[in-house]
Order: sequence, then structure tokens, then C-alpha cells
Amino acid sequence: MSILFGVFGLLIGSFVNVLIYRLPISKNIVFPRSSCPHCGRVITWYENIPLLSYILLWGKCRSCHGPISIQYPIIELINGVAYCFLASNYVLQGELLPLVLRALIFSLLTAHIVIDLRHQLLPDGINFFLAIFFFILSILNEQWVMGLYGMALGVALPLLVTYLFYLVKGVVGLGGGDIKLFGALGLFLGPLGIIQNIFFSCLLGSIMGLALILVKALKREKPIPFGPFIITVAGFQIYFPEYFKRLLTLIF
Ligand SMILES: [Zn+2]
Repeated sequence: MSILFGVFGLLIGSFVNVLIYRLPISKNIVFPRSSCPHCGRVITWYENIPLLSYILLWGKCRSCHGPISIQYPIIELINGVAYCFLASNYVLQGELLPLVLRALIFSLLTAHIVIDLRHQLLPDGINFFLAIFFFILSILNEQWVMGLYGMALGVALPLLVTYLFYLVKGVVGLGGGDIKLFGALGLFLGPLGIIQNIFFSCLLGSIMGLALILVKALKREKPIPFGPFIITVAGFQIYFPEYFKRLLTLIF
């Protein structure tokens, strides 16, 4: 079961690569079929098998021998391993729908991180589907009322902070995509969870920002993508809640 679900994860990982490549340039995510970025030849189904094709083709296009990005097999592998891991934890509880939702949420969050790092963008389409999947999960957990409060707080609190920041410094701190992501996460995390997320992601972001300025990897004025910090903290809250609770008791 876990292995089978892992293979499903490899296939979804392939689709995550399509999202990462096409969403930021507003291309349709289903048509046309993928083609080689070097020679433009349409990629056949047997060149599109997750992991396997990359290995068999030695990371090169079959006709023009242009290099295929190592990012493709890495994303597929991460997805496959994560799905396998999630399934092995969920088999005991025997519920397929929450497992599938949590797995798909993992894939969307992965796409979000890579797109934000590359383009400083958290696409609306991904936030929209995250919100839907989180809301279904909170209905299944009978927590959807708290979820709605969480969403309201997840949007209102960052908006307020951004507004105050704007009044003081005259620059916009958080992007609209960040605020929509907080809203979507609030649907699952609830009011307390989303406050914890906002607190820890801001903390993590500030520490990383300062560290990068210190090693001069970053100009002070240049904004760093904030999505990866939100998602790192959310990842702990969603997939390792007991560790997150233990961390909280250590700090407070
Ligand atoms: Zn080619």
C-alpha cells in the first residue's frame, strides 16, 4: 500500500514540475504536451516516466542532447518518498480521503516553495486549491467553524501588520500571495494555530534575513520570498504536530 502510494506520489511529483514551470508564466497546465526547452520536440510518454526516464536518458534530451534540469527528478523523488511516508503512517487509521488530501497538500506546498524562491510569487490557483483541501479536512475533523475563524484571522492579522508597516516605513511588507496563504492555512490550523504560524514564520524570516545580510548575500532593500518560511512552519504543524507541541512547551 505504501509503495503503491509512493508511485502515485512520483506521478503527482511530475505534475508538480509542470505547475512549477507553467504557472508563473500563465501557461495552461494541461495543454499543450510538454516539449524540450532546447529543441522544442514534444516529449513522448516513455520519456515522461518519473525518475526512470531521467536515469535512462542520462539527464539529456533524446534528440538534441540538451540537459534536462536535475530539479525534475528531485521534485519527483521528494514527492514519492513523502507519499510513501504519509501512507505508512495512515494505513493504521485506515482512512483514504484524509491521506489523499494531506498528500496533495504536500505537493501544492512544494510547488509553492519552488515558485516563490524563483519568482517571488505564490500563485492564486495553488492558494485556491489549498484552501479547498484544507476546508474539506477541517470538515472531516469537525473543526470547520474554528477553521473559518482561523481563515478570518489569517487574513486580517497580516493585513493589519502590513498596513501598520506601510504607515511606518512606507513600503509594503507582505505580498498578497502571502496573506492568501495565511488565510488558506487558517482553515486547517484554526485561530490559535494560525497565530502560532504567523509568529514563528516572521521569527524565522527575520533570523534568515539578518543572517543573509550579515554574510552579505542579500542587499538590505531586496525583499526575500516569505512563502518558504510560512510553509516550513506550517509543514511542522500539519505533518509533525506532536513535535510542534513539544517545541512550544520548550519555548513557553
Ligand atoms: Zn531537445
